[in-house]
Amino acid sequence: MAKQSIRDVDVRSKRILVRVDFNVPLDKATGEVADDTRIRAVLPTIRLLQEQSARIVLCSHLGRPDGRVVEALRLAPVARRLAALLGAAVVTADDCVGGDAEAAAAALPSGGVLLLENLRFHPEEERNDTAFARQLARLGDIFVNDAFGTAHRAHASTSGVAAFLPAVAGLLLEKELAFIGGALDRPQRPFVAVLGGAKVSDKIRVVENLLAKVDTLVIGGGMANAFLVAQGRDVGGSRVDSGDPGHARRALDRAKELDVRVLLPVDAVVAARFERDAECAIVPVDKVPVGWAILDIGPQSQTMYGAAVRAAKLVIWNGPMGVFEWPAFAAGTRSLAEAMGATSATTIVGGGETTQAVEEMGVADRISYVSTGGGATLEFLEGRVLPGVAALMDG
Ligand code: AMP
Repeated sequence: MAKQSIRDVDVRSKRILVRVDFNVPLDKATGEVADDTRIRAVLPTIRLLQEQSARIVLCSHLGRPDGRVVEALRLAPVARRLAALLGAAVVTADDCVGGDAEAAAAALPSGGVLLLENLRFHPEEERNDTAFARQLARLGDIFVNDAFGTAHRAHASTSGVAAFLPAVAGLLLEKELAFIGGALDRPQRPFVAVLGGAKVSDKIRVVENLLAKVDTLVIGGGMANAFLVAQGRDVGGSRVDSGDPGHARRALDRAKELDVRVLLPVDAVVAARFERDAECAIVPVDKVPVGWAILDIGPQSQTMYGAAVRAAKLVIWNGPMGVFEWPAFAAGTRSLAEAMGATSATTIVGGGETTQAVEEMGVADRISYVSTGGGATLEFLEGRVLPGVAALMDG
């Protein structure tokens, strides 16, 4: 369902409470921000608010302090990096609610930015406590959610607070909804989904939801093993999900009913052991040597998968084609990334590992949209309603 965004409401000169996802990795030695991708992702929203002379109160979680104050998880390093990126001062508060936070928010000048302390220092945040949500709401006139990465959680700062303030999406969240939501609701065709990664049980709901929408489903990575087994093949010593063995069989039956083409690997890179430098070979999928494991799709499968991507008007990809962290088993993921980068179709990449893969392989800037959410992206692809989105005002 369409949701209102920051562009649909009058934010001029107002105090705007913005939930952001500044859950960034910190350098172990220096304590400084090691990767500022998530901070940069929110800059367009902050800049738009500054242009409207709004006063900006940012809140985020960082790590898992489990409801206690953990010194190493304070947001000070994030504030420093944000100030450097904005080229402007960022005020900080010692807490995310209470008198000091309220005073700091009240004292903000037009265009000023305040970053509150880690939300998860309070156990009430993850409990979605109503009194805590009300305290947060005192810090703004309007609530903006721009934290897609936590939109699948019903927490005080993502869901509860929206009961007390007009609530709209920030530009980043709006873009996620437009690309992924748009792809699922009104796909250009042919629509191809490529799924990979370790286990079918993690993604079976994604498979089920996408089967009802796509023209072709391409499966690689460890999760393909369960489908090969379901087709009666012997995958040797490959990792096969210990979850419900019927998942893959039922998905294949459903695909047939819905007339969805399912592509599975026809050849594979197999290894004598599950190790980085293990002896390896390329074999057809029905010739996996006893005790050897499939660690990547083979060259014929790469060609087939590349052709499916080229024939599509819309491609969504989640999950690597092999154990891409090890160079000997990265070719399948690289070839898919290159096919995604080369097509003129709309291409969407989601999930932490896949995002890492397209970045490492240098094609991220040729993908139409790289989703910023991990778990949130998967739940979105499963067709679930994300609480952080549901809480926003309808468009
Ligand atoms: P996921 O988080 O489910 O997308 O899984 C990503 C992980 O799947 C990566 O760390 C890969 O190393 C792993 N993976 C991909 N292909 C295989 C495979 N054939 N066997 C075992 N693990 C795999």
